[in-house]
Amino acid sequence: MGAVPSHDVLIIGAGLAGQRAALAAAQTGATVAIISKVHPVRSHSVAAAGGINAALNPEDTWESHAFDTVKGSDYLGDQDAIEIMCREAPDEILWLEHAGVTFHRNESGHLGTRAFGGASAARTYYVADITGHALLHVLYEQLMKHAQLVDRYEEWFTTDLLQDDEGRCVGAICRNLRDGELQVFNAKAVILASGGAGQAYKPTTNGLIVTGDGIAQAYRIGAKLMDMEMIQYHPTTLAGNGLLITEGARGEGAWLLNAQGERFMEKYAPNKMELASRDVVSRAEQTEINEGRGFPDGTVALDITKVPRRRTLEALREIVNIGRDFAGVDITREPIHIHPGQHYIMGGVKTDVDGQTTIAGLYAAGEVACVSVHGGNRLGANSLLDTLIFGRRSGEHAARQALHMNMPSTPAARVSDTEKWIREIISRPGGGRRVSAIKDELGETMNQYVAVFRDADGLQKAYEIIRRLKEEAPKAAIDDRGSVFNQDVIGAIELGYMLDCAEATVIGAIERKESRGAQFRTDFPERNDADWLKHIDIAVNGTEVPTISYSDVTITRWQPQERTY
Ligand SMILES: Cc1cc2nc3c(=O)[nH]c(=O)nc-3n(C[C@H](O)[C@H](O)[C@H](O)COP(=O)(O)OP(=O)(O)OC[C@H]3O[C@@H](n4cnc5c(N)ncnc54)[C@H](O)[C@@H]3O)c2cc1C
Repeated sequence: MGAVPSHDVLIIGAGLAGQRAALAAAQTGATVAIISKVHPVRSHSVAAAGGINAALNPEDTWESHAFDTVKGSDYLGDQDAIEIMCREAPDEILWLEHAGVTFHRNESGHLGTRAFGGASAARTYYVADITGHALLHVLYEQLMKHAQLVDRYEEWFTTDLLQDDEGRCVGAICRNLRDGELQVFNAKAVILASGGAGQAYKPTTNGLIVTGDGIAQAYRIGAKLMDMEMIQYHPTTLAGNGLLITEGARGEGAWLLNAQGERFMEKYAPNKMELASRDVVSRAEQTEINEGRGFPDGTVALDITKVPRRRTLEALREIVNIGRDFAGVDITREPIHIHPGQHYIMGGVKTDVDGQTTIAGLYAAGEVACVSVHGGNRLGANSLLDTLIFGRRSGEHAARQALHMNMPSTPAARVSDTEKWIREIISRPGGGRRVSAIKDELGETMNQYVAVFRDADGLQKAYEIIRRLKEEAPKAAIDDRGSVFNQDVIGAIELGYMLDCAEATVIGAIERKESRGAQFRTDFPERNDADWLKHIDIAVNGTEVPTISYSDVTITRWQPQERTY
């Protein structure tokens, strides 16, 4: 191990949340390190397609954006956090534009918007259907511009968070993927920005790197997780491979049709139709499929031919490519078969509006975190906004705190435990069940029992399978025993993270005996505000069964109402 790098703020994850946090912390005067297991512009934010929300148009208001978000969350979102996000959104878009994001402009030359689900105004700003790509590259340019203030550790994998004797988070242990070297990082504050956990499901729209590392690492040192049962199924994903067809398609005017050619959303959301919130549309599709009105491949159709061809080729060109390359369909000329697929986790590491978790010195921002602005259901195009607003706020807060602190001395001896752990993975005998087989079983289990519709029996089955997989995982065989870019070792570690996340999801889903947002219990089909208008918090306690507690939902001005679209 080399000399211990010490920084005021250590950021784990270099997607949009992490990069925004790094810039904000550096601009507040802190020394910063940012770590990413992949090159930063390969972070999963690069896949974001449809856009980012803000009430920037003079006819729109942040209050309207906030109310739509509260309603979209099925009243589980914390309204103080939602107010902050929606109020600060317009300035963030302008900041991005001034930094160089080439947002779409309308015919009058102003920033143009598209409609998105659950929104009462067209307030989604976008760059064709590659918005995440555009944003991430501009932020990375800014990081390079601030290279003297921000040290980048690209292709370094964090294995553990470190605490001092008082339990404060003071750094992390990371593995340099290029040579397998382990390194302790010292910091006055650590910001987790390590993204979601979609790979715990199969299929998912999320890339292979989205394995819940930060959620599990925080959980393992005692941080509370919140609302983990709230898993978003996106209404339009391709059968088999789970690839996303952006909501931007429906925003531009595409229809959903069942196998009988009926525009079925008329029955489920007569006012918003295809642009109802995602939980509503996914349930509608799944109902059509379950009741025999879908296609034999378990899908319904998305008809993008309703959008003028020229517009599709201009504003949705990436899904033109996806349709052609992955489904053999020219979406400008024929409908494409889609179904609901795992896409996003609303829950995560519980934080306040400045990103502070329940562990001193540890912050979280982006999909790893639960602030909670999405509650039971995230509105499309609110996640990019969440990453940037709460990434920035976490960076600023962590930096301000750090400026008044002495550098802690990190318990560097802990690295020997990690060395032992990795040696044990590498020396496992061959021939056992493979990491990939266990991961597949986990993903398929979650997709079968912890999906759009859930019930007690299915959730219990999922829980028991996960418990078994947790016993099998520490024995799973790997092939590569080398030290250079050993993805087998990383895969074995990530499997453990995904199992922790999945277990917390199932425990939360079993606990919540009502239907709200993305959690639809066929055995408890109604929303029950009297008993369940509260967050479910989950924390480890040294036994096999974690502690469940509840916290209040913050309501500022919007009392819960019946939710119709
Ligand atoms: C296909 C797709 C399209 C989407 N489109 C939109 C959209 O149009 N609008 C919208 O608002 N939202 C969209 N979303 C959601 C949104 O893109 C994500 O929620 C958001 O980008 C997450 O950003 P993040 O910064 O939190 O994490 P990520 O971008 O996932 O970054 C995570 C970072 O953490 C690092 N990391 C993880 N684990 C470790 C570890 N152990 N050690 C070191 N580094 C680690 C990774 O390398 C990466 O740098 C979409 C999602 C998908 C999957």
